[in-house]
Amino acid sequence: MRILLSNDDGYNAPGLIALAQALRQIAEVIVVAPERNRSGASNSLTLDRPLRVNRMEEGVYAVDGTPADCVNLALTGAVDARPDLVLSGINAGENLGEDVLYSGTVAAAMEGALLGLPAIAISQVAHVEPVDYRNAVNVALELVRGCAREPLVPGTLLNVNVPQSGQSPQPQLTRLGRRHRDTVAVRQEDPRRRPVFWLGPIGSPGADAGPGTDFHAVGEGYASITPIHTDLTAYSQLEDIGTWLRVAARGAE
Ligand code: MN
Repeated sequence: MRILLSNDDGYNAPGLIALAQALRQIAEVIVVAPERNRSGASNSLTLDRPLRVNRMEEGVYAVDGTPADCVNLALTGAVDARPDLVLSGINAGENLGEDVLYSGTVAAAMEGALLGLPAIAISQVAHVEPVDYRNAVNVALELVRGCAREPLVPGTLLNVNVPQSGQSPQPQLTRLGRRHRDTVAVRQEDPRRRPVFWLGPIGSPGADAGPGTDFHAVGEGYASITPIHTDLTAYSQLEDIGTWLRVAARGAE
């Protein structure tokens, strides 16, 4: 099996290196990843300048772009990847609930799925430094072995979060939960006494974190596996919004 490995923490991040080393025992691995940490880059593509793909060592390429750039370039001819599976990670830290909308880790996998391959994003839930990636490595290996036995359907996208507690977390199929809203922006002053702002820390889990959610699974020590897709249509609202449109249009007559 040939695996394209990317991430958003950078090509030399410990989580990617740990996963690449383990995967090379069972598969052919091509790494195409950002040259520096691009966490939070989401699905952004670089369209205002050319990109450089630098070969760092055999089978390892660093790109001066986003995670989505890396996977797009790897699958459109910049390197000879031709993978059977796209993996992204292991991210240093969780990507749960609405995190998937901001995550570069998920975006790298999503780019692979959008381009017609099965793809898996894998994150190590971590509350202490340095991050211990062993649980996430083991879960990733199990999933890759599973793909070798029974390939995932092209376009499948799995978001995987592995807790640090316990020896070998068992997989649990989940849906995305939700966090409470962000805390407030942090106001500071620059040396010239002008205000500058930091976005506040991400919201804590809890708005929707009951049984069945990804938050709940990792909290209980399971490896959360959430199949996700890119169709953001709110099907449950189609009828209500149709009614609203008719009522709202009547007011304009
Ligand atoms: Mn990251």
